[in-house]
Amino acid sequence: METVAPLKEIADIVDDKGGDSYKYCYQCGTCDVVCPWNRVRQFSVRKLVRQATFGLTEIENEDIWRCTTCGTCPSRCPRGVNQIELSRSLRRIATEYDVFPESVTPIVTVAGSLSAEGNPFNMERSKRAEWAQSLGVPTFAEGMEILYFPCCYLSYDPRGKKVGAATVQLLKKAGVDFGILGDKEVCCGESIRKAGNEPVFRQLAKENIKTFIDQGVKKIVVSSPHCYHTFKNEYPEFRVNFEVVHISQFLAELIASGRLEVKGEFAKKVTFHDPCYLGRHNGTFDQPRDVLKAIPGLELVEMANFRQDSLCCGGGGGRVWMETPKGERFSDLRLDQAAEVEAEVVAASCPYCITMLEDSRLNREDPEAIRVKDITEILVDLI
Ligand code: SF4
Ligand code: SF4
Repeated sequence: METVAPLKEIADIVDDKGGDSYKYCYQCGTCDVVCPWNRVRQFSVRKLVRQATFGLTEIENEDIWRCTTCGTCPSRCPRGVNQIELSRSLRRIATEYDVFPESVTPIVTVAGSLSAEGNPFNMERSKRAEWAQSLGVPTFAEGMEILYFPCCYLSYDPRGKKVGAATVQLLKKAGVDFGILGDKEVCCGESIRKAGNEPVFRQLAKENIKTFIDQGVKKIVVSSPHCYHTFKNEYPEFRVNFEVVHISQFLAELIASGRLEVKGEFAKKVTFHDPCYLGRHNGTFDQPRDVLKAIPGLELVEMANFRQDSLCCGGGGGRVWMETPKGERFSDLRLDQAAEVEAEVVAASCPYCITMLEDSRLNREDPEAIRVKDITEILVDLI
């Protein structure tokens, strides 16, 4: 079995994405200092960069699968190295050679399900819109104000469906003219791309883009920062551009313009967990906080890591589908940070963050002491 990726192959794949930045590393170690992995176990992305420079990366190495693509080290590297693209490239090679360590093997099933059914859960494509049936959500038609794109978690996952229902109620209350694609929607493909499966990403992206064009979509409101990032920053690689708005941005607009009135009180101490793909990757820090600040009685407190310095939940880069042993979960640390500032509720605005944080909450000594809520779930009871 091939265990060492040839230098030329790494270089070709990284170059294919538009950069050979890893070659500029001068081994300062800043990336290792800021990487959240080093709060829970030893991991050196600097070493991966070094090995790649010499074409010595062992693709069997579990470390090539660790990066959650949180965006912290690329934002701090003095040499402009993009460590995320390097990890993604190494995973592309491992995927091509079919080399997966045991903790990563769920990704193979996920990729098969995405390719066959358009979702990572092995659920039937035809059942994608079942969550919306009792809510009376219309199918998108050309000329509507927006396409609402709920994503896979909100369509299939029981916890995610609650967020979808809250979102729909808010949009209806604000009088937004919207529809969904139902079983014509497929996963945006963000995570599987970061997990190294470029062919499945391209298949999904092309299918969504064709549907958007055929249906006359102009403006898309998304619940997931991963869909937001992909539609906004990665689908343009296919020479298309759609107006993409994250739900936190849309709600902030609806409240500021008076279309959505917050009537009730929420007298609790709330902290906001910045999702990496909303905050660090796309600079949206204010709007979710603006929504929370518009709620009477709500006291907003910040955790030790927030905004640009936020602590990743551990679910990015396809890690949401991989096994992370207890003691190594960033989301456990995040809830500790929330408890330290005596927050009663951790608000988030990302289905991966909600999934990771809820898992951690349920494993806490006193799970009822802290709640994890999407911002739509807080708002929906107050309108
Ligand atoms: S921060 Fe940049 S230059 Fe420094 S070790 Fe990491 S990749 Fe190399
Ligand atoms: S992007 Fe985040 S998780 Fe990935 S290596 Fe850098 S700091 Fe670590």
